[in-house]
This record gives sequence, structure tokens and C-alpha cells, in this order.
Amino acid sequence: PLHLYVWNILVTGTNRGIGLDLVRYLAEKTNEETRIYACCRDPEGDKAQALRDLAIQHPQKIQLIKLDQSNEDSISCAFQTVSAHIGAGGLNLLINNAAIAKPPIPGLLSDTNKQDMMEGYETNVVGPFLLTKVSLSPSSQWKFTQSAVINISTLGSSIEKLPENFHAAQLYSYRASKAALNMVTRCFSEEFKSQHILVAAVHPGWVRTDMGGEQATITTQESVLGMINLISSMSNKDRGMLLDWEGTIIPW
Ligand code: NDP
Repeated sequence: PLHLYVWNILVTGTNRGIGLDLVRYLAEKTNEETRIYACCRDPEGDKAQALRDLAIQHPQKIQLIKLDQSNEDSISCAFQTVSAHIGAGGLNLLINNAAIAKPPIPGLLSDTNKQDMMEGYETNVVGPFLLTKVSLSPSSQWKFTQSAVINISTLGSSIEKLPENFHAAQLYSYRASKAALNMVTRCFSEEFKSQHILVAAVHPGWVRTDMGGEQATITTQESVLGMINLISSMSNKDRGMLLDWEGTIIPW
């Protein structure tokens, strides 16, 4: 199992929603040597005030990193910055959390165009793919031992479960992108098995955030607590799987 202590952690999409509370929880619950690389599009902008306030409370632990994951140069640049901080120490946990849902919920067919389909794929699949690829490349200095890549996916990606929730939100672009992210997760899981890097997809629950909306059933705190408990107890059986925040397997 993975244990949550001396860790170098990278999380994307940390200025609001689930990502912000992931960083908060990790900063509070890990030991002093842990370093958290909290990525967001605009660390100096108005939308990152809450993240900056959090970083001020944990100046040793939290480092803000500028990252637009729809931009390949930005991914390379963010990786180089993190790499320079970490040196040979290695990264232990990469959480690909940032994503978009365009058009917003319910994402009707009549409102969805080519650009929405492409942007969903670029941000939700290609971004995490490229960031994971650079992070795990043999030429990178990062030495993964007892490490994991967690891709935040969704119940909405499940083809088997679709009839149960399609009526609530159609979300063509978002669902298709997350189903593709699941496949990328499974491929990386196979690719890095021999290096003992655990790669899995996690559904955070239906969470009250800008994306989840006010009707959602759980808070970011409940979601994060569940996901961190799950991640820290993951073992071989969880490789390449899609699990919800309570640890239940979701069928593809
Ligand atoms: P929010 O919409 O509240 O936050 C999304 C985050 O992703 C923001 O920090 C946003 O930054 C960031 N982001 C979007 N595009 C980019 C980009 N191109 N580059 C970098 N960062 C970007 O979402 P949630 O917190 O609700 O969702 C977090 C994860 O959980 C997502 O992967 C989502 O799909 C998943 N999820 C959420 C559910 C829910 O009920 N909330 C249900 C199932 C899955 P910015 O402020 O700059 O836009």
C-alpha cells in the first residue's frame, strides 16, 4: 500500500473546487517534509486568491506552479519548474484533477459543437496525458518509488452506467473525454507496471463545486477525505481501475 508521509505531490486545478481542498487537506495531514506543487492557470490572478491564502499558511509545503494544461509549452514549463525544485528526490503522487465541462451541465446535444468536443479532449485527455508522460519519462530526474498517478475521472464516463444518468445531463464532450481519460489511465497502468507506479482513475462523487453545482450531494471536504483515504490504501488490485471516492469499482 501507499503511505501518506514524506511525499512530493503535484496536483492540477488547485485554485478552486476539489483541487483547492485536496491541497488544503494534504497540507494539513502530511508531515513537514512533504512538498505540494499546486498548479493553476493564473497563480497571480483574482481567481487564485484562496489558493494564495492557503499557501501563505503553509509556506514551506505549498509551492504554486503556473500551468495551463491545454497548452503543451505550459506543461513543459511547469514540469521544468517542479523538476528544478524536486531535483533527484522524485515525485510520489501526481493528481490530474483539472478539467472542463463545455458546454456546462446539462450539456445538451443542441448546444454542443465541434469546438466543445475538441476542447474537452484537449484539456481533459491530452493535458493529463502530456503531464503524466513528461513526469514519468526515463530522462526526467524523477525517481518514482511507491508512487501513484491518480486521474480524476467521473461516473459519467461509464458506458455501462449511462442509462441511469443520461437524462440528468447529456454532456457529450465531457463524457467522451473522461472515457478516453480512462483508457489513457489503463494504458499508463500497463506501461509503468514494471516500475511499480500505480496508475488509477477516481470518481470524486457528486461534489458541490462550480462544476458539480449546488444540488450536488457531497462537500469538497467529504470528497477529498474519501479520495485521500482511498489513495493512501491503494494496492496492486487497484491498478488501472476506475474507483469512486468510497473505493467502489465503477464498471467501464
Ligand atoms: P471546477 O470546475 O470547480 O474546477 C476546475 C478546475 O480545473 C479549476 O481549478 C480550473 O481552473 C481548472 N482548469 C480547467 N481548465 C484548465 C486548464 N486548461 N489548465 C489548468 N487548469 C484548468 O471543478 P471540480 O473541482 O468540480 O472538478 C475537479 C475534478 O473532478 C474534475 O476532473 C472533474 O471532472 C471531476 N469531477 C467533478 C465532479 C463534481 O461533482 N464536481 C463529479 C465528477 C468528476 P480555472 O479556475 O483557471 O478555470
